[in-house]
Amino acid sequence: MSIKNVMVIGAGQMGAGIAQVCAQSGFEVLLHDMNEEALQKGLKNIEKLLARNVEKGKMSAEDKSVTMNRLSPSSDLKDAAACDLVIEAVVENMDVKTNIFRELDQYAPKHAILASNTSSLPITEIAAATDRPDQVIGMHFMNPVPIMKLVEIIRGLQTSEETYESIKAMTDELNKTPVEVKDFPGFVSNRILMPMINEAIYTVYEGVASPEDVDRVMKLGMNHPMGPLTLADFIGLDTCLYIMEVLHEGFGDSKYRPCPLLRQYVKAGWLGKKSGRGFYQYN
Ligand code: NAD
Repeated sequence: MSIKNVMVIGAGQMGAGIAQVCAQSGFEVLLHDMNEEALQKGLKNIEKLLARNVEKGKMSAEDKSVTMNRLSPSSDLKDAAACDLVIEAVVENMDVKTNIFRELDQYAPKHAILASNTSSLPITEIAAATDRPDQVIGMHFMNPVPIMKLVEIIRGLQTSEETYESIKAMTDELNKTPVEVKDFPGFVSNRILMPMINEAIYTVYEGVASPEDVDRVMKLGMNHPMGPLTLADFIGLDTCLYIMEVLHEGFGDSKYRPCPLLRQYVKAGWLGKKSGRGFYQYN
């Protein structure tokens, strides 16, 4: 199936990035958000990033305006009627996502593929909210989307071969590297990353080392570009806790139990960079 028109639902950090790379790769893109302010902010962020690319000589001014012309705002989910592919990137909440997929199933044309950018929720369950589970798939982009090369492509239990092949080909067109993964908690990326972050938090909790030293060990000793606690602050400690809970519940294995210190920070409202404080102070 050839994909030309794409709708991205959610104009936040991830949705705006996904819309940008799709438009840069020649797709016609509708960017939708239920919040008008978020939608305008998302579009403005894309324009700013493209302008920076022009300043740095990475893109011509003409390419920037062609890319911006391929992007249109949408405030109505019914606009999905004009799309071959919808990529959902709203909050990480199963009820919100299944409601959106139920609606999209009514509005999107019969041939359209419905994808989710979820970092941890089961694609099979999201697909079950529709009458086209064979055309539902996970497209897990990494943050920041315009820079990171990987897209985990998650096959739900009922995802068809045709859907998988179309999304794999589309990911290649985005100049990203697709990696096929099965629908298991945390997929591959977060199943490995989050327990590492959780273990780093345990080392602080048990007084083994300070946050600065834990990060220093992983940066200088393992050549990681960023220490796990700095990374946790960037991702958001609430998100880290949420994903650990998904792993813990999904596998029923105590090795995934979230560190009590992580729970305590989240309860205190220390969510990382976005709240001004996490393992480090910001501002
Ligand atoms: P975000 O909070 O920056 O953006 C979410 C956007 O969705 C907001 O603008 C909000 O207004 C909008 N929204 C919420 N409910 C909506 C609805 N019912 N209809 C339309 N719009 C709605 O979140 P984000 O960080 O961009 O994450 C989005 C998704 O991407 C989540 O599923 C998350 O798990 C996943 N993800 C996040 C990252 C990351 O590093 N932030 C990485 C990979 C995947």
